[in-house]
Amino acid sequence: MSRIEEFELIIVGGGPAGLCAAMYAGRGMLRAVLLERGVPGGELLNTEWVDDYPGFEHVLGRDLAHKMAAHAVAFGADIRQENVESIVRREDGIFEVATSMGTVYEAPAVILTAGGTPTKLGVPGELEYAGRGVSYCAVCDGAFFKGETIAVVGGGDAAVEEADYLTRYAEKVYVIHRRDEFRASKILQERIFANPKIEVIWNRRVLELVGGPAGLRHLELEDTVTGERHTLPVTGCFIFIGFSPNSGLIKQHVAHDASGYLITDDRMMTSIPGLFAAGDLRVQLTRQVTTAVGDATTAAIAVEKFLKDRRSGAVGAQVGV
Ligand SMILES: Cc1cc2nc3c(=O)[nH]c(=O)nc-3n(C[C@H](O)[C@H](O)[C@H](O)COP(=O)(O)OP(=O)(O)OC[C@H]3O[C@@H](n4cnc5c(N)ncnc54)[C@H](O)[C@@H]3O)c2cc1C
Repeated sequence: MSRIEEFELIIVGGGPAGLCAAMYAGRGMLRAVLLERGVPGGELLNTEWVDDYPGFEHVLGRDLAHKMAAHAVAFGADIRQENVESIVRREDGIFEVATSMGTVYEAPAVILTAGGTPTKLGVPGELEYAGRGVSYCAVCDGAFFKGETIAVVGGGDAAVEEADYLTRYAEKVYVIHRRDEFRASKILQERIFANPKIEVIWNRRVLELVGGPAGLRHLELEDTVTGERHTLPVTGCFIFIGFSPNSGLIKQHVAHDASGYLITDDRMMTSIPGLFAAGDLRVQLTRQVTTAVGDATTAAIAVEKFLKDRRSGAVGAQVGV
């Protein structure tokens, strides 16, 4: 038998977006709960230095995460460590958010801020050197590699675009691709072929990332055609082989793009009334801490208005209304 708890708002995910939404919900005196499967902070906990969050010129990701969580709690946020398994909207407009602890949280509004997961290479050294040479975000970490020789792994639009971007900092950028042609659009390809700082290494698979106490030192590569192995000295390795938004928690149809990112209106509401989305799992141009908290601010304020309209009968209960 499930335990049922009722709220006005359920926030799913405790990264920057979720913590910011919880802070605003607290300030707005909403009865809200934030459900986070791990320690609050999201991707900030996997980020060493953050140099582009206004007011903090140079801050450790985990310190920023602690400050955001403490700020939300100071405004009354109720943060619970629970893994959300499903989100379903009933016909009466109430959401049922089920967790692996057997609790069903009920509320007329949900802000989904569950972020996404960069696809990993899954080779030795990748996790060990994450934040010490290995990165999944060029905008975030590119500036740490000024004048250095680095590698980008991947062959799609993200890999090719970010390789070009990284040449504004790095002296040399190798693009390593396991095939002999890119999937990226032709215009992006032309840009990197014309960039003298970029060298493409075709038909190579990364076998291992090797380093020492100071961080990454080289990659062990294998030729996918001949099987030959060789070493590539680099101090940075940016991996762009995919990113999956954690949008599969919603068990009803919700508008999304081809990669599963949720489509919202300018109030961050999805195609399901009462279901809002903020941060990395939303369709948008860039994914940063600033954009995540910006989305969350809008979503939390929009929820207040949504609940008011709902109480006055101005919001329909049916999906798609
Ligand atoms: C290596 C790296 C470095 C970065 N560096 C920077 C930087 O320097 N500057 C910058 O601006 N941005 C940086 N970013 C991007 C930034 O971290 C993200 O844009 C930001 O964290 C997005 O916030 P979010 O709240 O949308 O998602 P996330 O931070 O991903 O948080 C999502 C949260 O949801 C939780 N969650 C997921 N599924 C469930 C579930 N089923 N139940 C409960 N909880 C769940 C997760 O545990 C996580 O805590 C970096 C990203 C990476 C990967």
